[in-house]
Amino acid sequence: MHLQIRGLEAGIPGKPILAGLDLDVRSGEIHALMGPNGSGKSTLANVLMGNPSYLPTGGQVLLDGEDVLAMSPSERALRGLFLAFQYPVEIPGVTVGKFLKRAIELRQQSSGSRGMNVSAYVKELREAMDFMEMDQGFINRYLNQGFSGGEKKRMEVLQMLMLKPSIAIMDETDSGLDIDALRIVARGVNRLRGPGFGALIITHYRRILEQIVPDFVHVMYKGRIAVSGGRELVETLETKGYDWIRERYGIEEEAHESALAGA
Ligand code: ADP
Ligand code: MG
Repeated sequence: MHLQIRGLEAGIPGKPILAGLDLDVRSGEIHALMGPNGSGKSTLANVLMGNPSYLPTGGQVLLDGEDVLAMSPSERALRGLFLAFQYPVEIPGVTVGKFLKRAIELRQQSSGSRGMNVSAYVKELREAMDFMEMDQGFINRYLNQGFSGGEKKRMEVLQMLMLKPSIAIMDETDSGLDIDALRIVARGVNRLRGPGFGALIITHYRRILEQIVPDFVHVMYKGRIAVSGGRELVETLETKGYDWIRERYGIEEEAHESALAGA
């Protein structure tokens, strides 16, 4: 699966934030998106999730050539995009087990495969819960009701393990910064890692990238990808910070502006 972002412009009413962003994520690739606070990382995640507060105003987002921005959030999920935090905070009366079973059924229907084998589902769910070090009693709890931060994180990763998305978008900047939460996410991503799974891991911090080693690293600055590279870019950012990007990007902007002025 190929997620193509082309010249994406988006923002909130009266405030443009993304300013022509280009990015490609394919199944089989782990991408890290870094960048200083306020560069627009979470805005990108919100646009990809279909959060109605963030409006796309230009450019395209395509999933295997199909217009993602025209799809509802649930349609995006059915096509194999996993958008962390897409589920409501709490769903009264729906247990974890029922929620996951329904989500998987829908995903299977949309991909054309026949109904699920319930005993195989239960076996897989139990195994995934063991892997995530979750108590089996969790299956019967109401979704997200009274969940601790760590339990919500485990639930999110459990959902990802069961749904086996083609591409996962995870914004880890604002949540789950404790070591336990990072370990949970890393465990899930590293388990799914392989030719059929891609991820865009959005983070301001390096810590998670010590546990999930990315294939590609991008640095966002002022609503665009300013620099892309391999995993070594994480080290460069750690030692040099973001100033060199500001300088280099600032210089490029000036050169561009003076070129325009001179034209
Ligand atoms: P990052 O995740 O890289 O820190 P964000 O996408 O959260 O950046 O924010 C980019 C810019 O847009 C910031 O200046 C931020 O203050 C602004 N912004 C984002 N969301 C909102 C919002 N809902 N209301 C007002 N300003 C916002
Ligand atoms: Mg953010």
